[in-house]
Amino acid sequence: VTDKLKKKKYSPSLFVVHFGLKGSWPGIPHHMILLGPRYKGLLDDIYDNGVLPNDFSLYLHHPTVTDPEMAPEGYSTFYVLAPVPHQGKLPIDWDEMGPIYKKRILDEIGQRLIPDIHERIVTSFHYTPQDFGTDLNAHLGSAFSLEPLLTQSAWFRVHNRDDVIENLYFVGAGTHPGAGIPGVVGSAKATAELMIEDMG
Ligand SMILES: Cc1cc2nc3c(=O)[nH]c(=O)nc-3n(C[C@H](O)[C@H](O)[C@H](O)COP(=O)(O)OP(=O)(O)OC[C@H]3O[C@@H](n4cnc5c(N)ncnc54)[C@H](O)[C@@H]3O)c2cc1C
Repeated sequence: VTDKLKKKKYSPSLFVVHFGLKGSWPGIPHHMILLGPRYKGLLDDIYDNGVLPNDFSLYLHHPTVTDPEMAPEGYSTFYVLAPVPHQGKLPIDWDEMGPIYKKRILDEIGQRLIPDIHERIVTSFHYTPQDFGTDLNAHLGSAFSLEPLLTQSAWFRVHNRDDVIENLYFVGAGTHPGAGIPGVVGSAKATAELMIEDMG
C-alpha cells in the first residue's frame, strides 16, 4: 500500500492570507482573479519545478461586498489565495517564509487594487502548506488531495468502497468523484449509498 501511495501525484498547496481592512470597496466584486504575467511557466513552477513563484495569479475573495454584516460597519473582509507547490516539491520552512510571502502578496494587491492596503489593515492571518499538513492532516500540505490526472480520475481514483477490506469506505476530496464541495458532497452520497446497499 505504501509503494502504491508513493506513486500517487498530489495537487498543489495554497498560501492564503485573510485580512480585514478599514473602509469599503463597492468596486471590488465578491470573486476576482488577478492574473499574473505568466501562465504555463507559472503552472510549471507550481506543479513540476517546486519553485515558489515571485509572480502571482491570485484569487481574491471579498464577501463583505455581498454581505456587509460580515464585518463591523465601515470595515471589509477579504482573503487572497495563491497556489504554491506542496511540501513534497518544496519542503521549505513556512514559519520563516510565511510573513515574507504574505507581504509580497499584499504588496501586489496594493499595486493593483488598494494602494494604501498596509495602512488600512486592522487584522490579518495567513495559512501555509505547513498548516494544511499539521492542522488538517493533509498529506504534503496538498490543498485538493490527489491531482485530478486521467490516471487518478473516475474509476482510477480511490474507490468509495474498498476492493479488498470489507466494511472499509472512503469519502472526501481524494476519492471518486474528486475535490471541491460539489465533488465531496457527491462522494458522500455515493459512499452512503454503498453502505446502505451493504447493510441490505
Ligand atoms: C482556501 C480554499 C478555497 C476553496 N474554495 C473552494 C470553492 O470555492 N469551491 C469548491 O467547490 N471547493 C473549494 N475548495 C476545496 C474544498 O474546500 C475541498 O475540496 C473540500 O473541503 C474537501 O472536503 P473533505 O471533506 O475531503 O476534506 P476537509 O474539508 O479537509 O475535511 C477533512 C477533515 O478531517 C479532519 N481530519 C484529518 N485527519 C483527521 C483524523 N486523523 N482524525 C479526525 N479528523 C481528522 C480535518 O481536520 C478536516 O476537518 C477550497 C479549498 C481551500 C483550501
